[in-house]
Amino acid sequence: MASPSLQLPDVEAMTAEESLLWAYDEFGADLCLTCSWQKQSSVLVHMISELGLEVPVIELDTQLFFRETYETRGRLIERYGLELIRPEVLTVAEQHRQEGPNLWERDPDRCCHIRKVEPLERALEPFAAWISGIRREQSLTRADAQRAEWSERYGVWKIQPLVDWNAKRVDAYIHVNEIPYNPLHDVGYPSIGCMPCTRPVVKDEDERAGRWGDSDKIECGIHSR
Ligand code: SF4
Repeated sequence: MASPSLQLPDVEAMTAEESLLWAYDEFGADLCLTCSWQKQSSVLVHMISELGLEVPVIELDTQLFFRETYETRGRLIERYGLELIRPEVLTVAEQHRQEGPNLWERDPDRCCHIRKVEPLERALEPFAAWISGIRREQSLTRADAQRAEWSERYGVWKIQPLVDWNAKRVDAYIHVNEIPYNPLHDVGYPSIGCMPCTRPVVKDEDERAGRWGDSDKIECGIHSR
């Protein structure tokens, strides 16, 4: 899909807050946020609330999150009064019946497509712009992410306010503002996904090295261009 004409201001030079204000002004009700309840979600939910912006929140619940992740979601909902858009996804039992047991072990790309990518495609359909929490330092695959970029794949503008933040800055923002966050980050999980595909990292490993740790896969596919 060709990118619709849009006179992009110098979004790269903006702060995270300024880019959110610009996107809200530009896209209004056609702007949404996705949350996976990692620390970037905590920062963005808080920042959007502090700025007084009404942005719908899409949750991609694979039904395979850690208990701590669901508890974090509950604490953020309670504190910020979030109402979630939750695209339907096959239950894990349905997936076992259709695809065979433990698809994540045999074909994680297909499992991610069924449980994340396809539900996200449906959820983004009504929107023109999508706020996500990805950061350049998370992995090589994210190193050239822009603060605002057109997504050919989803036909939306991606707004990535935290793209130039490092992990220390994220942690500091959370602690200074006393924001609920996923406690797994404190016990060796810099990046948190589904239980079967996430392990803690060891010293000097990449932030995302614990995702699909025994394979070459490092992205679920939702941020592929
Ligand atoms: S992260 Fe693992 S369990 Fe979750 S959707 Fe992807 S392959 Fe499936």
